[in-house]
Amino acid sequence: MAQPASPAASPTLFATYNRAPMTFVRGEGCWLTDDAGARWLDFSAGVAVNSLGHAHPHLVAALTEQAGKLWHLANIHRVPGQEELSRRYCEHTFADRVFFTNSGAEAIECAIKTARRYHFVKGHPERTTVLTFEGAFHGRTLAAIAAGGQAKYLEGFGPKVQGFEQLPFADHKALEAFDMGTVAAILIEPVQGEGGIRPVPAQCLRGLRDLCDRTGALMIFDEIQTGIGRTGYLLAHEKSGVTPDIVAIAKGMGGGFPVGACLATEEAASGMTAGTHGTTYGGNPLAMAVGNAVLDVVLENGFLDHVRDVSLYLWQGLGAIMAAHPDVIETVRGEGLMIGLKCKVENTRLHLAMRAENMLAVMAGDNVVRLLPPLVATREDAREALDRIGRACAAISAENAAAPSKAAPQAA
Ligand SMILES: *Cc1c(COP(=O)(O)O)cnc(C)c1O
Repeated sequence: MAQPASPAASPTLFATYNRAPMTFVRGEGCWLTDDAGARWLDFSAGVAVNSLGHAHPHLVAALTEQAGKLWHLANIHRVPGQEELSRRYCEHTFADRVFFTNSGAEAIECAIKTARRYHFVKGHPERTTVLTFEGAFHGRTLAAIAAGGQAKYLEGFGPKVQGFEQLPFADHKALEAFDMGTVAAILIEPVQGEGGIRPVPAQCLRGLRDLCDRTGALMIFDEIQTGIGRTGYLLAHEKSGVTPDIVAIAKGMGGGFPVGACLATEEAASGMTAGTHGTTYGGNPLAMAVGNAVLDVVLENGFLDHVRDVSLYLWQGLGAIMAAHPDVIETVRGEGLMIGLKCKVENTRLHLAMRAENMLAVMAGDNVVRLLPPLVATREDAREALDRIGRACAAISAENAAAPSKAAPQAA
């Protein structure tokens, strides 16, 4: 259904977004300042992108220093920042090889191409199918919307790109029954983001790994939202003990500078030989300087412990709010600082009630409001967040008490 245009809608931009009416002019850490000078608590982090908050001094210094030296080099040259950043990702993850991109969707495209090329050079050109799961989100390119499989993103954009099959979420029987003969790869988010912060249990990831091992399919994790410390691990899948063949990352890795990457084992990347893939901007020196600066901070001793500590504190407080307002919040779910508040009321109501408290969060599928704070959020920031969420829930509970019919959830 068409939404009414936002009051702040621009007549010269594509109307693809219903934009919020606030205009932010600067940021610092977890806080944004709008054009009227009001302060806002940012627990959206540009949808999990501003991993180190706004205007982090180390990132500002890295970017401005690089800006005075060299902005761009074609990928026919060696780019020192790429060599350093790839070496660091390989040292700290399962990967042996890295391809840098400008966005998440490009990282997914590279992951899919890598998986298909792998089978092609192994003499199995028929293995092209990419198996995904209901509720998935993998980006907005034509192939990525086919991978995501959501009708609302496919409608009107012509024939769906072939080679993608989707199974229900957590349906083991459907998976067992699926003919894996033409499957190139299984593609899955360890925690579904846009789909509503739905974590995939470790035993399911292990089951998928076993299935891939038995059938020769590759395992691709979409860690574009879950990666770079978001869940308290550098990559979210580490907690499960499962080792993938290919991983796409992006959002948090540039802390706000556009950069993504496809990580792969030596074996999985074996088909990606000279000339098979390319990018003009991917891995550009500015992005690499910032990407290295983000890793400086995230890999610092104790940083991921800090993420887990603040997350524990938030989770405890959210549990108490849920207990006090069972008419507003049904469950709290997720991992680390990737938190979903599954609502009893329509999620837009909680989202707007939080906005009335000058706090930003992000909507998600399955009637969820997402909390994706900068990873540098302190306990004091978390306390602020809990106070504001508590007041937002109290306002909704009061409305519910005054007009009980409004409390009923909308039809799913
Ligand atoms: C945001 C996101 C993407 C797409 O990333 P873009 O940079 O917008 O192309 C893909 N997968 C997941 C899980 C995401 O959260």
